[in-house]
Amino acid sequence: MEPVYLDYASGALSPAAHLLIATHLAMRPERQAEVALWDVIGGGVLEEAAEPVSELSKAQTLRRLTAEASAAAPTVNGLPEPLAQAVGRPLEDLRWFSPMPGMREWVLPDWPEARLLRLKAGGAVPEHSHTGRELTLVLQGAYSAGDTVWRPGDLEMADEGVWHAPRVVGEAECLCFAVLEGRYRLKGWNRLLAAFTGFRDRLA
Ligand code: ZN
Repeated sequence: MEPVYLDYASGALSPAAHLLIATHLAMRPERQAEVALWDVIGGGVLEEAAEPVSELSKAQTLRRLTAEASAAAPTVNGLPEPLAQAVGRPLEDLRWFSPMPGMREWVLPDWPEARLLRLKAGGAVPEHSHTGRELTLVLQGAYSAGDTVWRPGDLEMADEGVWHAPRVVGEAECLCFAVLEGRYRLKGWNRLLAAFTGFRDRLA
């Protein structure tokens, strides 16, 4: 399992990253059940346990947790909970800022590393990397990077080792919730051009 889920289960994530993963899990009940099951059976510790949890009891727990999770994930103001509660207002009431053409963002109060991002249909983010972990949760629409397409509920995890250039897929705008624990790294012309955009203060 990805380390970010283990950090989530053990409470080791920052509040903003915790909110993002909690929202992702609310949108993806099957993932939620997996993480909860991992928590229930004690993860890797299980292998050393004298009394292994039976396959039947694992399956029963997974079924119960999936049923509970499916009943969750309510939506308020067009946003899934618990994110909707943290935002507290409808999207159209937020004061959006445009760091570059085709992109609007709204930074969550108290958490400068967390923001809602809206990319227009046909829009793209210049190729970049990061100096820390970047978590991106798709809320509406879809985007691609490389050979992968991320759709509502999908979570992209990127870090220092990943260079990507997200591009909106389809006719609708793409709305994401992103948490960046670091700065952007850009190369060549992209770096020069970024100095003239709202990203200038977030470059490594
Ligand atoms: Zn990125």
